[in-house]
Amino acid sequence: IDNWIGAYEGIDGNLLMENMQKHALKFGTKIINDHINAVDFSVYPYLLKSEKEEYRAAALIIATGASAKYLGLPSEEAFKGKGVSACATCDGFFYRNREVLVVGGGNTALEEALYLAGLCKTVYLVHRREQFRAEQVLIDELMAEVKKGKIILKLNGELQEVLGDPMGVNGAIIKYKNGEEEKLSLDGIFIAIGHKPNTDIFAGQLEMKEGYLLTCGGMEGKATQTNKAGIFAAGDVADSVYRQAITSAATGAMAAMDAKRFLVNKK
Ligand code: NAP
Repeated sequence: IDNWIGAYEGIDGNLLMENMQKHALKFGTKIINDHINAVDFSVYPYLLKSEKEEYRAAALIIATGASAKYLGLPSEEAFKGKGVSACATCDGFFYRNREVLVVGGGNTALEEALYLAGLCKTVYLVHRREQFRAEQVLIDELMAEVKKGKIILKLNGELQEVLGDPMGVNGAIIKYKNGEEEKLSLDGIFIAIGHKPNTDIFAGQLEMKEGYLLTCGGMEGKATQTNKAGIFAAGDVADSVYRQAITSAATGAMAAMDAKRFLVNKK
């Protein structure tokens, strides 16, 4: 939320987060900053472990989100935060009137390319095949920008190597299916090839589909409940489709209501 709202509205994201925290504290929430690295949901109250502490939860809402995927190139890793990013709305501002490259062919990649086209001098879009996975409306918008020359498509190509110097990214090598290679001069690279839900610590304990937590859904009033009573999931950790700030916030509110009902009914 910090990144999203800050980037879109020019609002001070930190102030917004502080206000949200104050709001939660006002209602008696105890906030603990810790890193949970193991859980045991076979015992009740549910057990959560960090390096130093153990916590017991009568009800639990999981909102661990999803992390952007990267290609796994050593040069990509070396320039993360120095010209390689996975969030155009967070970092696009630094590339005003510059030349950037976006990797991917899904909704995220096209949205990022279109957002950047409004800021940057030129946007290259590299996709590993010819068909886009994105929705038609985005493809139409993309093609309009391609016609204007604002976005340049690099199809059937893959980012082979990120080039740069101690100042940051200054180029990239694209390798095409036909074996040809191309060197581009660039200021920034945005990787938009999907997300991985942060659910590794719940493996074998909660039901998942392709790594995303499964929730009950439906009209029974347990929409956010996982396969374990009293354990709920909200936001991108349980959503591979909608993934919007507003839908995540909404499932957060639903999970809070579900958890409260669970605790009240247990008494
Ligand atoms: P996605 O739909 O999974 O698309 C990922 C793209 O990256 C695909 O085009 C894929 O190529 C490419 N890719 C994956 N791994 C790659 C690799 N190693 N090298 C090169 N290219 C690679 O992911 P997404 O775009 O992040 O979207 C995820 C979900 O969120 C989707 O359900 C999407 O509809 C939703 N979403 C919705 C909106 C919206 O409604 N406005 C906005 C953003 C996202 P291939 O096509 O060849 O597989």
